Amino acid sequence: MLGLYLHIPFCSSICNYCNFNRGLFEAGLKDRYVQALEAEIRRSGPGEPADTIYFGGGTPSLLDPSEIARLIDACRDVFDVTSDAEVTMETNPETSSLERMERFRAAGVNRISFGVQSFREDELRRLGRLHSAVRAREAVREARGAGFDNVSLDLMMWLPQQTTSQWRESVDALVDVGPEHASLYLLELYPNAPLKEDMARSGWSQAPDDDAAEMYLWSLDRLEAAGLRQYEISNVSRPGRASRHNLKYWADGEWLGFGCGAHSTRAGTRWKNVSATDLYVARIAEAAPVDSERRVMTASERMEDALFTGLRLTEGVDVDAVGARYGFDPWARYGGALKPFLDGGLALREGPRLRLTREGMLVANEIMAIFV
Ligand code: SF4
Repeated sequence: MLGLYLHIPFCSSICNYCNFNRGLFEAGLKDRYVQALEAEIRRSGPGEPADTIYFGGGTPSLLDPSEIARLIDACRDVFDVTSDAEVTMETNPETSSLERMERFRAAGVNRISFGVQSFREDELRRLGRLHSAVRAREAVREARGAGFDNVSLDLMMWLPQQTTSQWRESVDALVDVGPEHASLYLLELYPNAPLKEDMARSGWSQAPDDDAAEMYLWSLDRLEAAGLRQYEISNVSRPGRASRHNLKYWADGEWLGFGCGAHSTRAGTRWKNVSATDLYVARIAEAAPVDSERRVMTASERMEDALFTGLRLTEGVDVDAVGARYGFDPWARYGGALKPFLDGGLALREGPRLRLTREGMLVANEIMAIFV
């Protein structure tokens, strides 16, 4: 079934490490954008069955709950959205309150993904985040109070000045809060990130690579001991609480993205909407197309993609099934390149499946590069 992704490109302030498609919140532009987004959804029909809706950003929780309701209603009017669909909203802790959470839930959201990043005040300040660790804990309580039983928290590791023991504090705090799902990301510094300048000016540095590896491996053990099982390189969940939407990206699924900069993949065609918010709004107002790059993928590219993303899952990828789907023999094509990783215990071949070991996940990019 399809997944539906809705991009909300507004933030209250811009974090110093952020490379997403986002801009500062501006009420007038936001109003026009929500109208455009609804129009894009409505003109895309008639739609097929869909079982996920995902509000990503940016900061979707800056919208009024009535706007989120309007957008969910548009999805339900146009697509055959299942009654048990997973409806996720990325939420920044500073935008939450019990009343807002209750209204988001009434609007149809049933999964909250909080961008917490750290439970240490000094780290949050270095990242330019607006919330405190105390606020993050309160926000989760508000979500619980509003009845959300599917809550995810994002944490970032390998932050400037972060030691392994400080990272452990954040992971322990996450376990205390008791989410159903967590995502652990490594801080990536893109070339012109303002955080890089802050680091140079303040003399901040990141821990050595070996420490980053230790942080990663330790946290997976800690989270598993707390009942959160790893199912993807960066994601853990309680049983049955893996992100149904994100699994579409990793398990060769199909999705439609609405809004500026959103990507879509359907029936072997991939496209991306124009990135600039005002251009997107103007194009929709003119009833003009908003896709800027559209490409029909070859069978070989589709196979490469399925193997590349499937290997991110702890259960790995059914190489035989992917090969049969796209008409190739991947073992013949990639067997030689895979051999050193298999011999080195970084990847395992189990019948038709190929999967990474935990050690292999530390060098996942190197292994997955075989397929592209
Ligand atoms: S809140 Fe998220 S999307 Fe917005 S600037 Fe910060 S990291 Fe980027």
